[in-house]
Amino acid sequence: MHEPHPHPALAPLQQTGPRYRPEDEVDFVVVGSGATGGVVAKELATAGFKVVVLEQGPWRTEKQFPHDELKVFQESFFTNNWKDSPNTFRKTERDKAEVKPSIMYGRGVGGTSVHFSANYWRFKDVDFKEASLKGKLAGTGLADWPIT
Ligand SMILES: Cc1cc2nc3c(=O)[nH]c(=O)nc-3n(C[C@H](O)[C@H](O)[C@H](O)COP(=O)(O)OP(=O)(O)OC[C@H]3O[C@@H](n4cnc5c(N)ncnc54)[C@H](O)[C@@H]3O)c2cc1C
Repeated sequence: MHEPHPHPALAPLQQTGPRYRPEDEVDFVVVGSGATGGVVAKELATAGFKVVVLEQGPWRTEKQFPHDELKVFQESFFTNNWKDSPNTFRKTERDKAEVKPSIMYGRGVGGTSVHFSANYWRFKDVDFKEASLKGKLAGTGLADWPIT
């Protein structure tokens, strides 16, 4: 259970979000609460569906976000802690996945949007149709965007 948030307006979901029991049926389960899962879950919930989001990392409250550029950026406060946020890698499905350091990885509610740089460069026309222009990449889901 979460302790009461000192600034209720900043943590409304923790206090008022619906809670489901394991046996309750829901319409969607979204795995991961990053920019992708978070937005999908929000859109589905706003459209009236019952949605559960599973997130493996911690739900940080405002107090747990240091406003300290050196600590966050230079000392990787949210990332690169292999014990709290382990990454495993394997080359084929037959291999056993091993924990190995990766760069700039950190778990938590909000996913990478919690600690990313938030640079959004304007896309060029070709960026929307890379699959058509450059060909499919085996083993990936590379696809053209549905918009231009
Ligand atoms: C340091 C850094 C800086 C960046 N800067 C920029 C930038 O400036 N501009 C830009 O456009 N992009 C940037 N990016 C990339 C961008 O942040 C990511 O591409 C984007 O946030 C990914 O969003 P996502 O929702 O797909 O995945 P994520 O944000 O990775 O979210 C996935 C979530 O799923 C959770 N999860 C995974 N597996 C499970 C499981 N089995 N059970 C439960 N939970 C699970 C994870 O814990 C995580 O919270 C940056 C990335 C990093 C690491």
